[in-house]
Amino acid sequence: MFNLAHPKLVTLVESEGYAEVADFLEDHAMGSVVPAICMAPDCDHTADLEPDQRAGFCEACGRASMKSGLVIAGMI
Ligand SMILES: [Zn+2]
Repeated sequence: MFNLAHPKLVTLVESEGYAEVADFLEDHAMGSVVPAICMAPDCDHTADLEPDQRAGFCEACGRASMKSGLVIAGMI
């Protein structure tokens, strides 16, 4: 099930310079690395990680809470 309105996904999309979540997904759907964001409530750190990353290490807050934009959107 897609979740294109997730607040973290919207934050990630905007930080990557996209106005629309759909455009972001279209550009990164086939990527070998894709933008990811920290899911911690008090942290919006972003980095380029594997498309299926669900628990990547966040360099900003030290938690294993980095998720790729494709995972947040429900595409993977
Ligand atoms: Zn973090």
